[in-house]
Order: sequence, then C-alpha cells, then structure tokens
Amino acid sequence: MNPAEECPRTEALSAWVDNELGEAVRAELAAHVAGCAICAPVLAEFRQLHGAFAALPELAPDVDIAPLVDRRIAAAAAQPQTPPRPPPQRMRWWQAVPLALGGVLSLSLGAYLGSMLMLGSQATAQPAMRQMAAFTAIPPGALALCPTRQTCNPLER
Ligand SMILES: [Zn+2]
Repeated sequence: MNPAEECPRTEALSAWVDNELGEAVRAELAAHVAGCAICAPVLAEFRQLHGAFAALPELAPDVDIAPLVDRRIAAAAAQPQTPPRPPPQRMRWWQAVPLALGGVLSLSLGAYLGSMLMLGSQATAQPAMRQMAAFTAIPPGALALCPTRQTCNPLER
C-alpha cells in the first residue's frame, strides 16, 4: 500500500458489503483493502456481521400496528382540550381589607414588643450604671489627699 494513500471511510466498506457500490468504486476499494492491514480486518468483520444478520429468521408480526396507532392518534385528537385558564382577576378593595388589617396588627405588635424590650433594658441598665460608678479614675481615699476636689478630678465641679 502506498503510505500517502488514505484509508477509505468505514461507511464505504459497509456499502461494499451491502452491495451498494458501483463497479469502479468497488474495484478501487478492493485494490486498497488487498494491501491495507487496517481495512482488511474491518472488511472481514463487516462481511461476518452481514452474514450473521442475513442468517437471522425473518419475523413478521401477527398484528398490524399502523391501524392501532392511527386509532390512538384519532382518540387523542378527539379529546377536548383543557380550557385555557381565565386571566387573573384584579383584587377588589374589600378583599384587601383583611390583608391591611393583618399588616397593621403585626406592625403594632412588633412596635409594642420592641418598646417592651427597650423599657426592660433601661430598667436593668440603671442599677448597672450605679455599680459601674464605683470604678472611677480616682482611687478611694485619694480625695483626702487632694487640696481641692478639682485638682484630682477636673471633671467634677
Ligand atoms: Zn486502509
């Protein structure tokens, strides 16, 4: 085989096996396959498959399927289509009243609960502030050493 020569496509070999090629093309393929180590086994495999398929018994179904399919298609076409859904109607004002009431109720409940939280934190913050006042920058007893209170604690008046 000439190394520059390309192998034919497997479809061409399959067509040869199926006897679908003209005489000239078949002769050309035969010349190639005779000297090609790649195409020869492929052609042999195709011939073997072709023989195996030809050996299969021909089966004919007892039932003709075409009229059955036609009947089903006709039945499907005869069934009424599902009616198109009506367009969504706009909400009337009286239908929005419960929604508005619910919104107002939930908002006011949230505000009430929030105010209860704030009141609770203020009530607990007062004693804590008094306790924290014990930790001043001036150590205990230091005021006795100060000539005036303002010298030790300029913030105090
Ligand atoms: Zn080849």
